[in-house]
Amino acid sequence: MTMAGSPVRTEALFDVLDPATGEVCGRAPDCTGEQLDAAVAAAAGAWPAWRSDAAYRRRCLAEAAVVLRGAAGELAALLTMEQGKPLRESATEVARAAARFEYFAGLEYGPQVVEDGDEWRVEVHRRPFGPVAALVPWNLPLQLAAAKAVPALATGNTVVLKPSPHTPLATLELGRLLAGVFPPGVLNVVSGRADLGRLLVRHPGIRKVNFTGSTATGQSVAAAAAPDLKRLTLELGGNDAAIVLDDADVERVAEGVFAPAFANCGQLCLAIKRVYVPDALHDDLVAALAARAGQLTVGNGADPATGMGPVNNRAQFERVTGLVADALAHGARAAAGGHALDGPGTFHAPTVLDGLTDGVRVVDEEQFGPVLPVIRYRDTEDALARANNSPYGLAGSVWGTDLDRAASIAERMECGTAWVNAHIRMTFTEPFAGSKWSGLGVSGGEWSLHSHTEPFVVHRPKK
Ligand code: NAD
Repeated sequence: MTMAGSPVRTEALFDVLDPATGEVCGRAPDCTGEQLDAAVAAAAGAWPAWRSDAAYRRRCLAEAAVVLRGAAGELAALLTMEQGKPLRESATEVARAAARFEYFAGLEYGPQVVEDGDEWRVEVHRRPFGPVAALVPWNLPLQLAAAKAVPALATGNTVVLKPSPHTPLATLELGRLLAGVFPPGVLNVVSGRADLGRLLVRHPGIRKVNFTGSTATGQSVAAAAAPDLKRLTLELGGNDAAIVLDDADVERVAEGVFAPAFANCGQLCLAIKRVYVPDALHDDLVAALAARAGQLTVGNGADPATGMGPVNNRAQFERVTGLVADALAHGARAAAGGHALDGPGTFHAPTVLDGLTDGVRVVDEEQFGPVLPVIRYRDTEDALARANNSPYGLAGSVWGTDLDRAASIAERMECGTAWVNAHIRMTFTEPFAGSKWSGLGVSGGEWSLHSHTEPFVVHRPKK
C-alpha cells in the first residue's frame, strides 16, 4: 500500500534490508510522481472538513493512541526488523508515538483576546495551512512520524508523511492502522526512493514542510521550499557536548553519559557525541565508560539479550568506520572497540576513543553511531568555548556536584536545550528547537500548535 487512506495503489516495490542480517526483510511501494500528486490531492480534498471540527479531531487523535497501543507488539517487531534497535527500545518508541497522539488529543486552544476595551474587541485566531509534508529519517521512524504528523493534524492540517527508504515498513503499517481512524485523505503515507522527498517538498499543493534529517539535506529542503515560500520546520543534526566538571563523581557521570551516547546505537540527534573531561578525572572516566562498552551485548535487536543493535544502513556504517579509522590515524586510542564486528549485518563495536582533540573529524562532525570521543581539558572556560565552537547547537549537558556552578555553565551553552547531570530528558510540553545549524523553527507543546498555524486577527467594534 502506498497511501494509507487514499485509493491509489502502486505495483512497483523496493527492497528493505534488515541491518542485522543484510537480507531483504520486506518490500515497500515505490511511489511515482503521479501517485504523489494523488496523495497531495487527497490531502487537499480532505482539508476543508478536517479543519472545521476541532472536537472531532481530538476524538480521532485519542482513538489513534488506542489503536497504536493495541498494535504495539506488531509495530515494535517491524521497527526492530528494519531499523535494528533492540525490541525494548522499539517498544518505547511505539509507546512514545502513541502518547503524543494522546497528549495532543487533550490540548485545546481557542482565540486569544489581545484587546477588549469599551470600543473594540481584537481576537487572534489560529488558521491551519493545508496539506503539510512530513519527512522523517531512519533513526526514530515512528516517534518522529508522530512528532511531525500529530501537531499538524491536531491544528486542522492534513498530512503527507514520508518515511526514510531505509525504514518505511513500520510507518506504512501505522498508516494502514490509522486509515480506520482518520477520514480518507487526512493522513497519507507515501514511501519511495531518493527522489520522492524532493518531489514532495517542491509540490505546489504542499503549504508547509516539516523535515527531520541531516543538516545537509535540510539546507536543500529549505532552498527547494523557498520559491513559493512554504512554511518550514527543520530539525537537523547535532554534535552535543557533555562537559564534566572537576567536582563530578566519575561513576555517576559514566552511568549518566553512557546511555545517551550509545542508545539506538548512537543514532540519535540528541546523543552525547563528545565528552570534555578535566585532566584529573580523564583516566578514571575513560576506564569507567570503556568498562560499560565492554559489557554491552551487540547483536540482533530481536534477541532479548541484545543491548545494542547494528548501525541502520551500509552508508552510515561506512561513515562510522571511516570516522574511527581517521581518528586512529590521528593518534586516538580505542579504550573500547575501535572496529567493526563480523557481519553479514552492519555491526560496530561500542567504541570509546581518547587521545584526540578538536580538529579531528570524529570530534568536529556528527558521527551518528556507537562511537564516543573523550577529550581532555585544563580550564573550564576553555572547555565551554570548545563545546560552543561548533556549527551545531542542538543540546548539551554539564555534569558536577555543585549544582549551581554546573547550572551557571549549562546556561552558557549555545544550543536549544541544556541539562545538568542528565542528557535527553524531555517532556511534550517544552519547546524543542536547535540553534545554529541544528534547526529552524520550534516544536513541542503549544509551540507546535503555533508552528502549524498562522495568526488571523479580527477587529470587532463593540457598537
Ligand atoms: P536524511 O537527511 O538523509 O533524510 C531525512 C529524510 O529526508 C528521509 O526521509 C529522506 O528520504 C529524505 N530526503 C533525502 N534527501 C532529500 C531531499 N533532497 N529532499 C527532500 N527529502 C529528502 O537524514 P537521515 O540520514 O535519514 O537521518 C539522520 C540525520 O537526522 C542525522 O543528522 C540526525 O542528527 C538527524 N536527526 C535530527 C533530529 C532532530 O530532531 N533534530 C532527530 C532525528 C534525527
